[in-house]
Amino acid sequence: MRTHVLGIDLGGTKVSAGVLDHNGQIVGRARAKTRAWRENDEVFSTIAQVGHTALERAGIDSQSLDALGIGSPGPLDPDTGYIIDSANLRFDNFPLGPRLATEFGCPVVLANDVDAGTYGEFRAGAARGASDVLGVFVGTGIGGGIIANGKLYHGFSKNAGEIGHIVIRAGGPKCNCGARGCLEALASRTAISKDIRKAIRRGRRTIVTKLLSKKAESVPSTTIKKAFQKGDPVVTKIVTRAAEHIGIALGSMVNLLGPEIIVLGGGVIEALYPDMIGVIEKSTRTVAFEFAMKGVQIVKCELGDDAGIIGAAMLATELKPSSQPA
Ligand SMILES: [Zn+2]
Repeated sequence: MRTHVLGIDLGGTKVSAGVLDHNGQIVGRARAKTRAWRENDEVFSTIAQVGHTALERAGIDSQSLDALGIGSPGPLDPDTGYIIDSANLRFDNFPLGPRLATEFGCPVVLANDVDAGTYGEFRAGAARGASDVLGVFVGTGIGGGIIANGKLYHGFSKNAGEIGHIVIRAGGPKCNCGARGCLEALASRTAISKDIRKAIRRGRRTIVTKLLSKKAESVPSTTIKKAFQKGDPVVTKIVTRAAEHIGIALGSMVNLLGPEIIVLGGGVIEALYPDMIGVIEKSTRTVAFEFAMKGVQIVKCELGDDAGIIGAAMLATELKPSSQPA
């Protein structure tokens, strides 16, 4: 009998898998480094291996799998299961869904990784019971997922939800995507790191210099948090400005989409939520219409790293599969 679902969260640095039983409990898990720079086939076999290890640890074989869901960086085509291309992985028109369907012998749903995370929070986390949800994940980059009327919203492009690339400051700092002034270029951990580094180069005094062992370009979220909590003026100013920018984006999204709840997650939020939420809320309210903000909650994600696994698994049982086994 097919009783279990496998959820996989594929990222640029790591891939994690979890086996969910019919109660939605994770009963086996595994993870590995993605080694995204390797050949496609090698990366694929890492993904497959992590899936098989999770099944082993759950004590079941792939014949017990009802379905498999995987969240991956995009852009991708959820209808065909193909990764179109990806800045974080070397996949270029790669049939990830079909390959996994053949590998595990079950239907596969391929979704954007942030969509999967948002869906996890919607079905089993902080946004349970809501039907209009905006998920925003602030880490190395900034990603967004939209649930509208209880359904994941893909849009005509099938890749809607790129909140990290809405322009907050025209002509602002250059973004990875090539545009200028995107939210991601202003408020991601990468952007915060860059600003801290710039301040250090300009001779500003900050305890980050002492907290960091080497001259590593990127400043970890935990270091940013430590400096913030010690009242470091440089870091406080930079983090506050990032929170303001996030709020401006959220306020615009509230006006555009009318969400009931906004779930915030990702490394920066996990580390700094209590320090940032006040500024984020205040800044959101400066942009959002009062009537549109009425009753809207901005909350922290509940599932942490498991959101992607759980969301992918739930999507696998609730959406039309991208790919069927041959
Ligand atoms: Zn951008």
